Amino acid sequence: MALENEIRLLALKNAVEYKGKANPGSIVGKVLGTHPEWRAKTAELMKTINKIVSEVNKLGIDAQKKELEKEGPQEHKEKKERDIFAFFGIKEGEKVTSAFPPGPEKYPHIGHAKSIILNYMLAKQHNGKFILRFEDTNPTLVKKIFYDIMQENFKWLGVEWDELQYASDNMDLFYKMCEKVISEGKAYVCDCNEDQTKLSREKGIECACRNMSSEENMARWKEMHTMPEGSRTVRLKIDLQHQNTTMRDPTIFRILEQEHARLGKKYRVWPNYDFQNSIMDGYYGVTHRIRSKEFELRSELQRYIQKMLGISITTTYEFGRFNMVGVESSGRAIREKIANGELVGWDDPSLTTLVALRRRGFQPEAIKNFVVSTGISKAEATLTWDDFILHNRRLLDAESDRYFFIKDPVELWVKGAPKQTKELNLHPTHRKGGRKFDTYDTFYITKEDSDSLETGKMYRLMDCVNFRKQADGFEFDSTEVDRYKGHGEKIIHWLPKSDRLFDVEVMMPDKKVLTGLAEETAKNIKVGDVVQFERFGFCRLDEKKKEEGRDKLIFWYTHK
Ligand SMILES: [Zn+2]
Repeated sequence: MALENEIRLLALKNAVEYKGKANPGSIVGKVLGTHPEWRAKTAELMKTINKIVSEVNKLGIDAQKKELEKEGPQEHKEKKERDIFAFFGIKEGEKVTSAFPPGPEKYPHIGHAKSIILNYMLAKQHNGKFILRFEDTNPTLVKKIFYDIMQENFKWLGVEWDELQYASDNMDLFYKMCEKVISEGKAYVCDCNEDQTKLSREKGIECACRNMSSEENMARWKEMHTMPEGSRTVRLKIDLQHQNTTMRDPTIFRILEQEHARLGKKYRVWPNYDFQNSIMDGYYGVTHRIRSKEFELRSELQRYIQKMLGISITTTYEFGRFNMVGVESSGRAIREKIANGELVGWDDPSLTTLVALRRRGFQPEAIKNFVVSTGISKAEATLTWDDFILHNRRLLDAESDRYFFIKDPVELWVKGAPKQTKELNLHPTHRKGGRKFDTYDTFYITKEDSDSLETGKMYRLMDCVNFRKQADGFEFDSTEVDRYKGHGEKIIHWLPKSDRLFDVEVMMPDKKVLTGLAEETAKNIKVGDVVQFERFGFCRLDEKKKEEGRDKLIFWYTHK
């Protein structure tokens, strides 16, 4: 009873999202996700789902919306019970604005996905506002293409920002804030070079620049805009012996000659990360932000800057990062490996960049489920591909169409097999039929299966024929599955010998390319679709090609 209510709620939500028509396929995955005990009884489950979905679809969208609204509060209550952001202690009705501030400098990876998803979820949970902010005030790091790549990747993840900001649009604000702190004697313009500054921080010794008057400093700040790179910086006057080294008179502005990707040569004096970040958060009212632990030390300085400037104070929480075993995550190492051909690109199937995961067939929903499941404790975690794949398989299993792919095909002649027309299921529970085969006595099976056949034993070509291996070849036995049961050794997948098959290549995560044949119905697979090749694994169609007049389908292997 409780399950039926749950299914009805899922069906209503799905229907409202898709113009009044719920899809049983997308509901079964969700049910199996929360009720794994039904995996053994999917046929029964599908019957229930189909029944409820057809009832719900008959209602029409207005009635669906109405019923969903009635159900709404109950769902809200459930959500609150497992609030993963409870540590913030946000009160009912409190205004929440969160942000995710990437530098447009590289391909976002699964770690970025975790940060953006958590901040987005936090805002949504409190009906708050979510800001995507490009932190692009270091012109030497910013690359134009990443503004688009990042937005596109984050949209693909399903994140919708209420506002898009560019830190570099706020240069006047940063300058104004800088002049304010200089005039108040809270910052000074320093002529020391990098080595001298480093030494003064290590030893806690102040330089001569530290004690100039604010009028002198203001004049020196104005001069900075025409001086060469590296000649001057602006530093906050805090404490050169502070326990937290980031508080030892940190640099807040420096001269950089590099042309900026958006603003060209308009500015030469750029704010440092902490100054920019604190102002963007405080000035635009970001109330809460979740980020990875490498920022923990900076938090004290950032709150100090916000207090000093009299802008709002952001509450931040830093969580421990997770690493994936065997995945190259260093940007420099990846660049080198791309240059020497060890990786095919930033979307190499061994990587966890979002472009790579998408190309392999990972689903945005699975990425979300996985990163949330890694938790937000302070401890660093090490995870494996298997931990991640679990979440993706759950979705794909429920949704992907099934097809036959014969790797390294070998001909199999079954003497006496009858001519038949067979229709196999696209999906075992909710897309019956859809794959027609005309079969006779010659088939293709994989070399691996062919090599494993033993004389005297019975085998079954899935949903087609039973045959025996004899000393002099293969002999038809029967077609009934009941006859196979109890006598048979193994059920194998197959293709009829036909000139309407597709040549297939599958790119594996280790970049080995497997070749073989796929059934005629594979013509319906669209680029970007993920299918399950039975007894082989999930694959995403990457490209359709023509080679020597024959169609060829190029897949990327997702996982088993
Ligand atoms: Zn100095």
